[in-house]
Amino acid sequence: MSVIYNRVALIGLGLIAGSMALAMRRAGLAGEIVGTARSADTRKVAAEIGLVDRVTDTAVEAVKGADLVVLAVPVGAMGDVAAEIGPHLAPGATVTDVGSVKRAVIDAVAPHIPEGVHFIPAHPLAGTEHSGPRSGFAELFDNRWCLVVPVEGTDTAATERLEALWQGMGANVDVMDADHHDLVLAVTSHVPHLIAYTMVGVADDLRRVTDSEVIKYSAAGFRDFTRIAASDPTMWRDVFLNNKEATLEILGRFTEELFALQRAIRTGEGDHLFDYFTRTRAIRRGIIQAGQDTDAPDFGRGVKKKEA
Ligand code: NAP
Repeated sequence: MSVIYNRVALIGLGLIAGSMALAMRRAGLAGEIVGTARSADTRKVAAEIGLVDRVTDTAVEAVKGADLVVLAVPVGAMGDVAAEIGPHLAPGATVTDVGSVKRAVIDAVAPHIPEGVHFIPAHPLAGTEHSGPRSGFAELFDNRWCLVVPVEGTDTAATERLEALWQGMGANVDVMDADHHDLVLAVTSHVPHLIAYTMVGVADDLRRVTDSEVIKYSAAGFRDFTRIAASDPTMWRDVFLNNKEATLEILGRFTEELFALQRAIRTGEGDHLFDYFTRTRAIRRGIIQAGQDTDAPDFGRGVKKKEA
């Protein structure tokens, strides 16, 4: 594949930015990849492992002369980063982000993007529970979806160029409206994470079952919850604070369904439980048929395990 951007600046050097650097390098999509992170520690690790071609001390330095700038920091930090780099962006450059929430990020970032610079939000639907500069891997986006969320008046050619980059990194691209994105992600990702956090918290609080029993006898269900509940606390705090409305809407529906199942268990309505579980099983089959997961007991994740 050929070079799509001459210089890409990655702001933040964690799981997503690191994976982007490796995926871009795999396919030769960028002339030069420059990166920066908030802490000296992360910058040092990134330089040591050669995650990007050049590590800079500040975001302002990183964006100089870049034709693509990727904001890959927690959702709650996007606005401050945009304010810092805004005056230093090259005319004609594209700024994108990879945040898990779209409406709040657009509201926070768009006011800082100068005239003549394109702002094209995006969200790759791929991740692991690991974070930091050592957690990325080139295959993270292979056959995963990246949702591109153009804002009003977005330039078509600039959008197509960004879409080509994501396709070059292995992803399939769809375009989606910001509010719809936030609702879909509340269902498919945000509320499931909250439920996992809750279940692991409940197990931890339950004094009649000791922590060592929970760990020793963790059957597949609980184990899967613990994997999700090990996700980065900063990232997920920011997701919930910034996707409040959709999360609360889906959580309301979830609570109603939970009460209905609780009642069915209490009153012995076995048919209701059976029918419910039959319906949900079909959704799992659909995900596997769509190639978005495998039916291996470890969901095929063994092969992608990386050190945190
Ligand atoms: P990560 O591995 O934790 O990396 C986050 C990066 O942001 C680090 O380089 C960190 O710098 C920097 N950072 C943290 N707080 C900051 C602040 N207040 N100001 C400036 N920089 C800050 O996170 P990630 O998983 O790559 O997530 C990055 C973005 O991608 C988030 O917006 C997240 O919502 C989105 N996303 C994540 C996933 C996922 O599953 N992980 C999937 C799709 C999208 P230091 O290392 O120096 O602290």
